[in-house]
Amino acid sequence: MRFEIVTIFPDLFRGIFEYGIVRRAQAEGLVSIALHDLRTFTHDRHRTVDDRPFGGGEGMVLKPEPLAEAFASLGIPPRAERGPEFAATRVILLSAQGRPFSQPIARALSRLDRIVFVCGRYEGIDERFSQLYCDLELSIGDYVLSGGELAAAVVVDSVMRLIPGVLGNQASGEFESFGVPDSEIDVDEAGVPRSQHGSGGLLDYPHYTRPVVFGGLSAPEVLLNGDHAAIRRWRREQQLRKTLANRPDLLERATLSEEDKKLLSSIGWQRHHS
Ligand code: SAH
Repeated sequence: MRFEIVTIFPDLFRGIFEYGIVRRAQAEGLVSIALHDLRTFTHDRHRTVDDRPFGGGEGMVLKPEPLAEAFASLGIPPRAERGPEFAATRVILLSAQGRPFSQPIARALSRLDRIVFVCGRYEGIDERFSQLYCDLELSIGDYVLSGGELAAAVVVDSVMRLIPGVLGNQASGEFESFGVPDSEIDVDEAGVPRSQHGSGGLLDYPHYTRPVVFGGLSAPEVLLNGDHAAIRRWRREQQLRKTLANRPDLLERATLSEEDKKLLSSIGWQRHHS
């Protein structure tokens, strides 16, 4: 997988991609990340990338020509001219007006060969560039950032860890918050997932490690006695409670066992049929 980022601030990424899983994945040749400085594709003395908006109003807009030149240098033509060799390539614009980024989108993107990110700045980029070159507009949340760089880093990080071989424990990508649907998870006789991690479209359960007592609080007894069926049940219950408390919307889509529904009802859940 090749990640490429077109930005006016390439140095902003230096630290972010030099640690942990992201650094290791690059070192092992599983992924590459290339940063492209938009100012390289300007021709005036001031290396101008922005201009005033037509129609007036606040701020500046990223000009389309340097962006198009950057893409020419990457060998990526406008969408209408792309042949089958670009089938596994996507151009993504980070934008507050984009589709909400999510784990299912991250999973879909992790199957591509090449993703090129366009980072907006100021009031955004000229709409025509987006129309001509971008396949997908993504937002990382309902708030406004000062640039697309942090958003691109978020998408790269979450997509990268889903690429086969990148995570040490291949299972852990599937069995954490927002993981695969329940139907795809191996469950025991009681319908409780066998995985050692949380999941199933629910939020993750809480994690504990040594020492047993910390700050006057003991780790939950059930985790210490080696009864794996009891541990699975406890973790599932924690997931359900946490999801009900923080993200009840996720419960509407989760596949829930009768057991799950009984527990949820007992703690005040009512399904809102759509
Ligand atoms: N005028 C725009 C905000 C521009 S913010 C508006 O009101 O929507 C400058 C740049 O930051 C954007 O072009 C985009 O690339 C990036 N950005 C801002 N918020 C973002 C978000 N929630 N997700 C992804 N990118 C975002």
